[in-house]
Amino acid sequence: MQEVLILLQTQSWFWLLTVALVSVCIGSFLNVVILRLPKMMKTNWQTECRVLLELEHAEDTKEQRFNLVFPHSHCPSCKTPIKPWQNIPLLSWLWLRGKCASCQASISIRYPLVELATLLLSLWVAWHFGATAEAVLYIVITWVLIALTVIDIDEMLLPDQLTQPTLWLVLLASAFGLGISPTEALIGAAVGYLSLWSVYWVFKLVTGKEGMGYGDFKLLAIFGALMGWQAILTIVLLSSVVGAIIGSVQLSVQGKNKATPIPFGPYLAIAGWITLLYGEQLQHWYVNLLLS
Ligand SMILES: [Zn+2]
Repeated sequence: MQEVLILLQTQSWFWLLTVALVSVCIGSFLNVVILRLPKMMKTNWQTECRVLLELEHAEDTKEQRFNLVFPHSHCPSCKTPIKPWQNIPLLSWLWLRGKCASCQASISIRYPLVELATLLLSLWVAWHFGATAEAVLYIVITWVLIALTVIDIDEMLLPDQLTQPTLWLVLLASAFGLGISPTEALIGAAVGYLSLWSVYWVFKLVTGKEGMGYGDFKLLAIFGALMGWQAILTIVLLSSVVGAIIGSVQLSVQGKNKATPIPFGPYLAIAGWITLLYGEQLQHWYVNLLLS
């Protein structure tokens, strides 16, 4: 074990190779989380609502076990179980040319794209921070951000099951000496949460509309815990820049109606991730811009 750690720290190729192999498998798992977690949450909400309204259980509640592991992966159109060799991240999709081996139904390109994004972004973090404990934490954060981004685009929600444990993880990590001090992390988390929370309530009282959700506050709390309250303004400003860029690209490509609600989470996730890696450069640039 000692030798492996030394090898990781001294041989950058070994560090990057390890991150690549682990993250591509995690990318495959993230696809499962992205697809199943929202379904699991909806089933839970329905059950809770029935209990609350004292309704009889519906006929179909004899539903089979459905979680991240069961049922095993199968083709959505012909239900044929996916064999292990057809489940190799990235390679299988290319090998099968994006089609189910049994029924030739096309397999969404989203699966390999999520795997590829997980691989490349994890490698980027690994390269940027080197073989350190911080890098491991930031790689895990990157995985969570990828899942949150895609789920928010699909379902307009940022599951508590992902945001809450991640916030605790970051706070605990700071207690064990990773990143900023525990006090700074705590203040950062509170400032992150409360800043969007106040914007939300002011916006709601003035316009009667909800501009974002509680998941967004929790996501910003995670970034506050990671980088301290000083980073919050940078992240919020950057997320509106990211939003403006992506929004205008979307408008020009799809001609989307401006009233269509667009989730804020992905912009926040992208801005937070960039700030995590390049926050200092961004602040220098920003201060120079103000001074010039
Ligand atoms: Zn099939």
